[in-house]
Amino acid sequence: MTLGFTPAVGDHAFTAQQARLLSLANELGRTKFAPRAAQWDEEASFPFANYDDLRDAGLLGLCVPQAHGGQGADYATYMMVAAEIGRSCGATALTYNMHICSTLWTGVLADGIAMTGEQREEHDRRRRLHFRRVVDDGAIYAQPFSEGSAAAAGRAPFGTTARKVEGGWVVNGRKIFASLAGAADYYGLLCTEDKGDQHPDVRDTLYLAVPAENDGLTISGDWNPLGMRGTVSRNLLFKEVFVADDEQLMPRGVYFKGAQTWPAMFFTLAPTYLGIANAAYDFTVQYLRGEVPGEPPVKRRMYPTKQVAVAQMRIQLEQMKSLFLRAILEARPNPSKDERMRLYAAHYSVMEGANDIARLALRTCGGQSMMKHLPLERLYRDSRCGSLMLPWTAELVLDRMGRETLYEPGEKDE
Ligand SMILES: Cc1cc2nc3c(=O)[nH]c(=O)nc-3n(C[C@H](O)[C@H](O)[C@H](O)COP(=O)(O)OP(=O)(O)OC[C@H]3O[C@@H](n4cnc5c(N)ncnc54)[C@H](O)[C@@H]3O)c2cc1C
Repeated sequence: MTLGFTPAVGDHAFTAQQARLLSLANELGRTKFAPRAAQWDEEASFPFANYDDLRDAGLLGLCVPQAHGGQGADYATYMMVAAEIGRSCGATALTYNMHICSTLWTGVLADGIAMTGEQREEHDRRRRLHFRRVVDDGAIYAQPFSEGSAAAAGRAPFGTTARKVEGGWVVNGRKIFASLAGAADYYGLLCTEDKGDQHPDVRDTLYLAVPAENDGLTISGDWNPLGMRGTVSRNLLFKEVFVADDEQLMPRGVYFKGAQTWPAMFFTLAPTYLGIANAAYDFTVQYLRGEVPGEPPVKRRMYPTKQVAVAQMRIQLEQMKSLFLRAILEARPNPSKDERMRLYAAHYSVMEGANDIARLALRTCGGQSMMKHLPLERLYRDSRCGSLMLPWTAELVLDRMGRETLYEPGEKDE
């Protein structure tokens, strides 16, 4: 199948399924998401209309296995589709990532995590319920893990806890930056099992789906940030919230193993920003050629400085796309050290590169291009958020790469 456009991930020998899904994402993005993007940004409101479209197109179940009624997209296919959505609306792509992760982690990623026979049986039974909700009911999942402590960076146990009681768990704690706050039907919560011994341990991380309507769950705080305003990432407070056993998205102890087995699970925040980088580049070319719809047909392409800047942007974009594509195609459980380093390098390049390209785009197009009726100033603000996101902020990626290059596991200096 030939695509009539170049996808945000670049050209590749796409499978028939990838080509079909990319075409769908591109079509929805161009015709629906891009025209609405300014509205969510201005109001800092959630893109409900886009989610209705994603639901109608069967894209909420993108990573639900086909045996469970979903599209059965694998990791790489999801990453390609997400980048295409990011091209038209960053906030939609980023929140879509939180939703999709709840099906990706419990689906294909969980299949690659070692479990006992009993755990596997429990997991298969429970995820059936959760896949059904997404496919049949069009349910939306959020993914709150950040708490403003070292936990979201993977350096400490989550302070939000779950205590085992008859038939389920009782959750207490607080999450910050919970994208889809007030929009999600379920909050895919990461918390620590409270074993009553006052010794919280990251190995006891639990992954629970908390139904939005459960008693004791409240949403608070303002949401008026620089960028990614449509994500509506407000605070969640859990006060003695009862969550039934069947809401466990992974068996006890499996999330911790999964995070170690599948580092690529943290790379899923990146495609949104690759999409934004593409959008900033595409806009710049259109603008310099005097071809932006509704704008005077003023050409600015004849100045050598503009030509050089566009060339620089393209070089950086090609580097990002190449590294991104390689990283998603080789992503697997227990990657080699080189593969892990490439994954970090790809993440860093995309998160920092998106903002570099958006910055160059504004400088190159000039003052008139930063007006609110054009998308560039929003792309610039949205692009700033990528490298701030835990657990792989730009700083923490540098930290990991340096340490893991110079120290083999278990090595110390004294
Ligand atoms: C638009 C947007 C949407 C988001 N959506 C979600 C969501 O849906 N769910 C969710 O859980 N979170 C979400 N987040 C939160 C995000 O993942 C981070 O948790 C948040 O940006 C961290 O901000 P902070 O200021 O609390 O970081 P802090 O913990 O205060 O850290 C500040 C900086 O210090 C560095 N740092 C932190 N810990 C260490 C360490 N141990 N060693 C060295 N350096 C360190 C990091 O570079 C970090 O950026 C979202 C963030 C944004 C911007």
